[in-house]
Amino acid sequence: MSEPLVIVGNGMAAARLVDELAKVALGRYAIAVIGDEPRLAYNRVLLSSVLAGETASHDIELKPAAWWQQRGVTLKYGCRATEIDVGRRELKIASHESVSFSKLVLATGSSPLRLNVPGAELAGVHTFRDSRDVDLLLTLAAQKKRVVVIGGGLLGLEAAYGLAKAGASVTLLHLMDRLMERQLDAPAAELLKSLVESKGIKILLNANTARFDGETGIEAVELVDGRRIDADAVIFAAGIRPNVALAKEAGIAVNRGIVVDDCLQTGAPGIFALGECAEHRGTCYGLVEPAYEQARVLARHLAGAPAAYSGSVVATNLKVSGVSVFSAGDFMGAEGSENLVLSDVSHGTYKKLVVSAGRLTGAVLVGDVQDALWYLELIRNRRPIAGIRDRMMFGRSLAGLAEAA
Ligand SMILES: Cc1cc2nc3c(=O)[nH]c(=O)nc-3n(C[C@H](O)[C@H](O)[C@H](O)COP(=O)(O)OP(=O)(O)OC[C@H]3O[C@@H](n4cnc5c(N)ncnc54)[C@H](O)[C@@H]3O)c2cc1C
Repeated sequence: MSEPLVIVGNGMAAARLVDELAKVALGRYAIAVIGDEPRLAYNRVLLSSVLAGETASHDIELKPAAWWQQRGVTLKYGCRATEIDVGRRELKIASHESVSFSKLVLATGSSPLRLNVPGAELAGVHTFRDSRDVDLLLTLAAQKKRVVVIGGGLLGLEAAYGLAKAGASVTLLHLMDRLMERQLDAPAAELLKSLVESKGIKILLNANTARFDGETGIEAVELVDGRRIDADAVIFAAGIRPNVALAKEAGIAVNRGIVVDDCLQTGAPGIFALGECAEHRGTCYGLVEPAYEQARVLARHLAGAPAAYSGSVVATNLKVSGVSVFSAGDFMGAEGSENLVLSDVSHGTYKKLVVSAGRLTGAVLVGDVQDALWYLELIRNRRPIAGIRDRMMFGRSLAGLAEAA
């Protein structure tokens, strides 16, 4: 008989895990997926495209219902898991039902951080995480509202771009002195800022929110330095926090995320975690690629094959507010490294390659990202670059000529 395996969360990591499990252990497990969003798993990354009107909401579904059925998966969505009874191997769900498991996988993702400032409880303060948020933001944009987006990272820029494209008047506030400071160096961030501003989005840096003003609904955002921005709505896009409550209340070790070992197992035998809710070797990843790598390893482990996850080299390769951006590895350049830079601001292009001990260790690209995956490969493989160093900046094809010569 198949062993009961329950997955909590019906997001991107869960869908990939089922896919990988079907490849390596079809029939070994009777899988049930419990997800609290009221729809089939979808590509969360594409919510930005839905907001920008470039993709329809029903087109972002990861797999159709028949795909789940064919893999024998019992799907319960619109249904929240509320408690894990580790000893009895039982998961309670909001409808007072419970399901038994032999193995349990937590794939609960993250929740958006909300600033704890006066006025944060006013009507008109929202987040950008799921498709219900997108429906709401599209309504705001259609009403041509004045929207303040808080957070100048990927998510904030995506929210600002989508809202502006859909008709809202958008001001983006960022606490730091440059956009996407965890992925970009100062020149790249400056170029991105001017490209985003050219799309009609106002950007305020060093903007520390003091309070939200309004009677019942939001009317303005006040900054610590006294600046005041009139607003009908505020969107928090200033970071995420892994959803660990379920694990924590069950006595499973958590730190920032749910702590897992190289097999993605938590402190409780037979209970695993992956994706944004998991913390591996002190790192919680906020991107989809590490979640997919973890899904591959966990599926192999659950199939009884040798498998270990040793962490991911994180790369950001995306279109931010319509601008192509790539960043990977040590993009700032640690002591002792050298930077190779090509900057053509008026053509909207910036490239920086970081070289250390004869190897490429980091890269930042804005505008032209054609060779991004090649740079990522060089960083990941730690391949010596002496033979291609002088042409590497100009892309794979030219560097290839250099290698052959
Ligand atoms: C707008 C947007 C744009 C993004 N763009 C990018 C990008 O360009 N590149 C990139 O790499 N990443 C991007 N990300 C991040 C990426 O979407 C996440 O890294 C990825 O979705 C993580 O997958 P996950 O399965 O861990 O979490 P999620 O996809 O969030 O899935 C977790 C699911 O678990 C459910 N859940 C939580 N608690 C419970 C419970 N107790 N019971 C039942 N269900 C529960 C949640 O409702 C959710 O449906 C973006 C995210 C957003 C919001």
